[in-house]
Amino acid sequence: MLSSVDDVTLMKVAEALGEEDAIKLIDILKNAEETTDDEIANKTGIRLNSVRKILYKLYDHSLVSLRRTRDPKTGWFIFHWKLQPDQLEGFILSQKRRVLEKLNVRLEYEQTHDFYYCGSAECKRVPFEEAVELVFHCSGCGKPLVHFENGVMITRLGEKVEILRKELGE
Ligand SMILES: [Zn+2]
Repeated sequence: MLSSVDDVTLMKVAEALGEEDAIKLIDILKNAEETTDDEIANKTGIRLNSVRKILYKLYDHSLVSLRRTRDPKTGWFIFHWKLQPDQLEGFILSQKRRVLEKLNVRLEYEQTHDFYYCGSAECKRVPFEEAVELVFHCSGCGKPLVHFENGVMITRLGEKVEILRKELGE
């Protein structure tokens, strides 16, 4: 069931959540009608605490639904989780939009600033205004700051923005 949820989608969701184990977890969820945190922990070997943490993250993004019942013997709550596959696509789209917004901000920053740089890998570029204040000497290593050509960077950023725009149909 839910064959429409392919591995690439799962990977993207896991990546967006910052949880590598989310892939295994969603994999179990997509092959079950409904499942409990205990079952997921047993099947994946992921610690119960981690399973719950990831489930709540998924729940926060409406990617899973939750039903609670009470164990008649112990009186404890049992949580039943169910994947909401139709939400996955929307989630990925909104993630892409967020990335696009960030890229656009970055691109505009690169386009509207002149940068100066000492050339050392461990030091940072600084915008013109800051370079003036530093009298064109790096605050990290003391070497002179020279103009940094960011044209290549702007081109690359522009390409990424274009790809995302197309994927989002904008
Ligand atoms: Zn430096």
